[in-house]
Amino acid sequence: MTVSDIQRFSVHDGPGIRTTVFLKGCNLRCRWCHNPEMIRPGAELQLFPDRCVGCGACLTACPKQAHTITDGGRAFDRSLCVACGACAEGCYAHALVLVGRELTVEQVLKEVAADREFYDRSGGGVTLSGGEPLLQPEFAGELLRACKGQGIHTAIETNLAWPWERVEAVLPVTDLVLLDIKMMDAAAHRRWTGAGNEQVLENARKLSQTEVPIIVRTPVIAGVNATAEDIGRIADFIRAFGNLLYYELLPYNPLGAGKYRSLGMEQPRERFARPDRQTLRALAEEARGRGIRVRCPDGDRCRVEAE
Ligand code: SF4
Ligand code: SF4
Repeated sequence: MTVSDIQRFSVHDGPGIRTTVFLKGCNLRCRWCHNPEMIRPGAELQLFPDRCVGCGACLTACPKQAHTITDGGRAFDRSLCVACGACAEGCYAHALVLVGRELTVEQVLKEVAADREFYDRSGGGVTLSGGEPLLQPEFAGELLRACKGQGIHTAIETNLAWPWERVEAVLPVTDLVLLDIKMMDAAAHRRWTGAGNEQVLENARKLSQTEVPIIVRTPVIAGVNATAEDIGRIADFIRAFGNLLYYELLPYNPLGAGKYRSLGMEQPRERFARPDRQTLRALAEEARGRGIRVRCPDGDRCRVEAE
């Protein structure tokens, strides 16, 4: 299946030191997405024209003549590209990057199992992320099963916007679920992500009745959901979940803007902003006021630890 990245020594996607496997493709279209290279399933080429030094290596490497350089500058015809990666391999300026590679469960397992010593020492394991890992449910299930079979702790990060059966199918091989609740208002959810949240909330309720531990996460974006009311409503919804380890606020990362152009995708017209530290602290306190544990790591010295 198409894996966009395998990140070793991750410490943000569950307990301990982890390997995060990013599966390509997503079923939602969040306007603020800062990883647009994860949206479409299947491998694809990113082009960063600013890095191009005009060496012409890609012209000879490409079997489809997708690249051209003329007096008018360089051009790339994406409709001809079959994502073979030959041009990216020979582009030493890193102006061309192939995102996504087809890997089998065995190949991924081999990479994941290489760090088991670190998992054992730190209480870590593997986390399936994306995109949305349940877009490739058979692969996700098989990989989780294979990891568990080797005694590796398993976690999956999902938006839960699926029929319950798809979520339920992976639970027997999942030790931890990290689930996103972005907002409680269905119309706002539809506006910002392209789909309502009824299924998400229903699945979250069902998940709360299982014995699989969960971490609920909210991407916090100024102008979208960075208000005491938004975060308070989510905290009210999850406060009774008996299997909730903690609630995590994830401040919006504004670094994805140039990526849309590199993929030939239209840039969302809205300009999103990261909430400031003071706001984040206030929101964390708002949620904590509901009697739940809250984490707010943002890598910016604002760290509201779980109590
Ligand atoms: S190989 Fe890379 S640097 Fe060379 S012309 Fe092609 S895109 Fe530009
Ligand atoms: S990925 Fe393959 S088909 Fe696409 S532009 Fe590069 S060499 Fe050509």
